[in-house]
Amino acid sequence: MSTVTQEERSVVADVPKQLYIDGRWRDGAEGGTIAVEDPATEETIAEVADGNADDAKAALAAAAEHQAEWQHTPPRERGEILRRAFEMITERADELALIMTLEMGKSLAESKAEIAYASEFFRWFAEEAVRIEGRYGVAPNGAGRLLVMKQPVGPCILITPWNFPMAMGTRKIGPAIAAGCTMVVKPAKQTPLSMLALAKILEECGLPGGVLNVITASSSGEVMEPLIKDPRARKLSFTGSTEVGRKLIEQSADQILKVSMELGGNAPFIVFDDADVDDAVSGAMIAKMRNVGEACTAANRFHVADGVAQEFAEKLAEKMSALKVGRGTEEGVDIGPLIDDNQRGIVRDLVADATSKGAKAIVGGHDVDGRGYFYEPTVLSDVPPDAQLLKDEIFGPVAPVTSFESEQDAIDAANNTEYGLVAYVYTSDLKRALRVCEGLQTGMVGLNQGMVSNPAAPFGGVKQSGFGREGGAEGIEEYLETKYVAVNL
Ligand code: NAP
Repeated sequence: MSTVTQEERSVVADVPKQLYIDGRWRDGAEGGTIAVEDPATEETIAEVADGNADDAKAALAAAAEHQAEWQHTPPRERGEILRRAFEMITERADELALIMTLEMGKSLAESKAEIAYASEFFRWFAEEAVRIEGRYGVAPNGAGRLLVMKQPVGPCILITPWNFPMAMGTRKIGPAIAAGCTMVVKPAKQTPLSMLALAKILEECGLPGGVLNVITASSSGEVMEPLIKDPRARKLSFTGSTEVGRKLIEQSADQILKVSMELGGNAPFIVFDDADVDDAVSGAMIAKMRNVGEACTAANRFHVADGVAQEFAEKLAEKMSALKVGRGTEEGVDIGPLIDDNQRGIVRDLVADATSKGAKAIVGGHDVDGRGYFYEPTVLSDVPPDAQLLKDEIFGPVAPVTSFESEQDAIDAANNTEYGLVAYVYTSDLKRALRVCEGLQTGMVGLNQGMVSNPAAPFGGVKQSGFGREGGAEGIEEYLETKYVAVNL
């Protein structure tokens, strides 16, 4: 049975465990700690500071105090800090990937892919920092002039989830730094180490104290609500569940914060009978199994044309059964554990509900025995429309396959959800591709590909998947206000 090694513990030992406030690392006011667990072995790998509401207030006070100075720091300087951080993350990718695998469970290869993705947001926003532009125009009556300028929104509160512990941070921190905003960041309690390691890197790269403040806390609601309602905060950016997002939108009404919400998903994966089925299966493996299925972009429902549904399900099952499940640090492992026992219980219950209503498990369908929160890669066929897992985010390695008759049936089935983050479409017919892309109620579509995430593209959802965009030219706009000056010549 594998356990956390001394070598792994020594890498974790180098990560700061304290709160980072006003450029200083310090314990929480009450001195308590939060245990961080390796989900593959169920062993505690670290104890990090447990901040309270006073600590969070101190972090916001630091952010507010440094806002004016930071926003007047030349954009080139802000960009160069991000660029240096991009390079340092790249140099330390192996060590950062190990930290991520230890606290989150995904395989080392997946952690490395996330580190690369995360660092690219810093490179991208290093380039965007010097391209914040306004405009100057002649008023339609010819008499006046219209001057439009962009200014940083002010101190930001950034809250991130456990599933992508670094990338969900860099895609908020990157544009905030580039735009000239200071911030308080709160990572999820299950995976604080990646964020603390990132804060240390930014400190080493010359980010002035107080610009980035990091609070780790076991009682996120109690600690964050007073900050969200504090008049010194001007912006809230949240990535997490729709349920928590809804609460935070309500709280942010108090101070009318500028809000960005990256919430849950329930992605449909549509395969038409004119698609290359092998390509669709390869795309499905990425869309479903990236991050052990614990991704907001994870394909949650497979809608496959009647004529190819069986072939698709069998080929997918064959690939799924070839995956090696195990501790993410081990050689050759494809699929790590789920984040915790609670998450595994949710997946188990959803599968039991579907099979009790007539779905068939072609492969998988059970917990993996032994230590760690492992679940078998699973393909379910003949999934009935009333199965709960077609409505809820599964957040696990389970692929339910259903079939459809017409193009309109596929679009209707795909849109039959309150979520609207991403959809995947496989077809070789260009006209159909564009028709279906237009008909889908999502913020993003993967057309003949199983992954959409790209730092140069606007990531985000519609409906109950949220609002606002991260990455691309749009990403920095979330951290800028527009000021219009009416000029009388
Ligand atoms: P979550 O339970 O909503 O938690 C997300 C973050 O919010 C964590 O840092 C959590 O802290 C904090 N939080 C929880 N309750 C809070 C409260 N009352 N006030 C302030 N903060 C609070 O979500 P999760 O389980 O970590 O992440 C999975 C969810 O994130 C899924 O629904 C997934 O789809 C979504 N997600 C969306 C995107 C996207 O871009 N659309 C990307 C990744 C993930 P603690 O955990 O420490 O309490």
